[in-house]
Amino acid sequence: MRKVALYPGSFDPITLGHVDIVERALQVFDEVVVAVAVNIRKTPTFSGDERVDLIRATFADEPRVEVVSFSGLLVDYARERGIKTVLRGLRAVSDFEFEFQLASMNRRLTEEVDFIFMMTSEEHFFVSSSLVREVALNGGDVTQFVPPPVVAALRARAES
Ligand code: ADP
Repeated sequence: MRKVALYPGSFDPITLGHVDIVERALQVFDEVVVAVAVNIRKTPTFSGDERVDLIRATFADEPRVEVVSFSGLLVDYARERGIKTVLRGLRAVSDFEFEFQLASMNRRLTEEVDFIFMMTSEEHFFVSSSLVREVALNGGDVTQFVPPPVVAALRARAES
């Protein structure tokens, strides 16, 4: 049976921290489904479709990565797809409390899905979508934090 991980998040936009987690996961799983949550924040910087497109462009050469969007409960989506493993990334201890709550809540909702956590490499510890947006929209250079398609998209956004 193929081992598949579901990697959910806002990805507004995808950063090299997220990319690092996907690449690590591909060493353990046969396939990673990156799932963009479209109902979490009401006013994202990039629309659901834009976020999906940016992730697809980032992994254009990686057939083992599938990119989808979903709304509603994550565990319902996982069940619908028959995926039993949800992947989340951990940066620092500060991520732990929220992720612990999220995983515990989801476990109460269903026993069918397990959460696993991967640690990003040190150079990405401090990278977050919100900080990247902040830097980019104020004219800063974000090439070391996000994949090339996102650099271009943020540049276009800053100029508009
Ligand atoms: P959410 O709003 O669901 O937290 P994010 O897009 O911010 O969505 O993050 C999705 C997942 O990726 C989360 O598990 C988050 O902890 C993880 N993540 C975010 N940034 C990084 C990073 N720099 N390195 C590793 N994991 C990260």
